[in-house]
Amino acid sequence: MAQNDYETVDAVLVGAGIMSATLAVLLKELDPTLKLEVIELMESGAIESSNPWNNAGTGHAGLCELNYTPQAADGSIDIEKSVTINTQFEESKQFWAYLVEKGTFGSPKSFITPVPHLSFVRGQEGIDFLKTRFKALTRHHAFADMEYTEDRATMAKWMPLMLPGRDPKEAIAATRVMAGTDVNFGTLTKHLLDHLGTQSNAKVKCSQKVTGLKRNEQGWRVNIKDLQSGGNRTIQAKFVFLGAGGAALPLLQMSGIPEGKGFGGFPVSGQWLRCDNPDVVKQHEAKVYSQAEVGSPPMSVPHLDTRVVDGKKSLLFGPYAGFSTKFLRHGSVLDLPLSIRPGNIGPMLAVARDNFDLTRYLIKEVMQSDEKRLNTLRGFYPQVKAEDWRLEMAGQRVQIIKKDAKHGGILQFGTELVAAQDGTIAALLGASPGASVTVSIMLDLIRRCFPKQVESEQWRSKLNEIFPAMAKVLASDAERYREVQARSDELLQLNEPVMA
Ligand SMILES: Cc1cc2nc3c(=O)[nH]c(=O)nc-3n(C[C@H](O)[C@H](O)[C@H](O)COP(=O)(O)OP(=O)(O)OC[C@H]3O[C@@H](n4cnc5c(N)ncnc54)[C@H](O)[C@@H]3O)c2cc1C
Repeated sequence: MAQNDYETVDAVLVGAGIMSATLAVLLKELDPTLKLEVIELMESGAIESSNPWNNAGTGHAGLCELNYTPQAADGSIDIEKSVTINTQFEESKQFWAYLVEKGTFGSPKSFITPVPHLSFVRGQEGIDFLKTRFKALTRHHAFADMEYTEDRATMAKWMPLMLPGRDPKEAIAATRVMAGTDVNFGTLTKHLLDHLGTQSNAKVKCSQKVTGLKRNEQGWRVNIKDLQSGGNRTIQAKFVFLGAGGAALPLLQMSGIPEGKGFGGFPVSGQWLRCDNPDVVKQHEAKVYSQAEVGSPPMSVPHLDTRVVDGKKSLLFGPYAGFSTKFLRHGSVLDLPLSIRPGNIGPMLAVARDNFDLTRYLIKEVMQSDEKRLNTLRGFYPQVKAEDWRLEMAGQRVQIIKKDAKHGGILQFGTELVAAQDGTIAALLGASPGASVTVSIMLDLIRRCFPKQVESEQWRSKLNEIFPAMAKVLASDAERYREVQARSDELLQLNEPVMA
């Protein structure tokens, strides 16, 4: 078939999770004439990691995550990562607030809820760390409202489930920020996809799988299989985004772009304990993050979370790590073995050699009994009753393995945007801090893959309209931060705390 017989679009976005949905809506805001198609293999969007029960729904803003503020050997605390994530989350809020103001979403309460973010530590070493962290963070305007306490009566008010039954001699401390959030990324994704469905030249196609990618002079030829009819079709796209979550790596490999060489993936599955008993749920109105066990990876930080999903409150505790060779929850056990290539086997073996602690941690997690899981929860909630909790599967996180000059290969726990030099294709690898900073990641993609358009008057003025202040400005300008945050909070109705 001649090339010009294929349907031609400006952009194909693979996967209908929060990443593709955000990018698609952003691109249409910047240029409503763009013709684009989102292709999803499941029967609807937001079924994989963006589903509310496959992630913790924490609006990561660096308020409570102790692993974002590492301590140096001299005892000082580095707050840079917390500031970056906080101001990136404010970028996300500006985008959502803009769409709410336009009337795109209906009520923001359907996807974002104010829930205080707390950090909780046990033992003197933990207390010393928390106190130093509190002092370092509160010097920055983004964290000025953080509160610190070692007083048990105050903690009993902040987290009523966590004090009764606790050894009175145990040294404990906590910080609290009232401006934290719980986000239902599944509903948010669906709002974005529904909005897209109402626009001209934008299609969301479900039960269709991208099976092939081939570069040509016009961009990319994308092969798609219809999983219901079994038929195949091909589209010609100027730009392709591989927003396929854990499955982005095999698609990146399929593209053959040199920038994707040497990457591998290490899947870590997750489980939660979930409680829906209203008598228990109503006693905890916070997201409480603590410290990870020594030697355990950052995504294993335990937290006891209020979740608000479809108007109902529940509690989640975890995550407990597991091991599966699948790259998606609904993926294949062959995902990991089939991703091994001559170009990434070196980095993968180097990671296996250098991460014995992680292997040991995963074996311990996978082997643990229900009673052991409950015991970990008891460290948070001493009077827990087993019958109130059930174990549920969380989503898959595919951690990035990449080449490293010194070690041969390293395991990276963040996210990485891999884009071809000509800007015609980009893939998002990795999992953390994830959905909360989707907007910043997609803005980065737009700057890298659409450099000329970003300089145009049309795109610049639209970006200024959507984002009154970008993360860098928010990080350094206290007054602007407060103004912009107040506006987003008002539009997102975050000033009406449903949580005490
Ligand atoms: C246990 C856990 C806890 C988390 N907690 C948080 C949290 O508290 N806060 C936070 O901000 N983030 C959190 N995250 C991260 C967050 O969930 C992810 O970063 C985010 O959902 C990723 O969105 P995505 O669109 O990239 O991927 P996904 O939502 O996984 O979407 C990818 C889509 O691509 C589709 N797809 C794959 N291959 C193909 C193909 N070949 N053709 C067509 N479609 C395809 C898949 O079916 C899927 O629907 C957590 C993640 C996990 C796993």
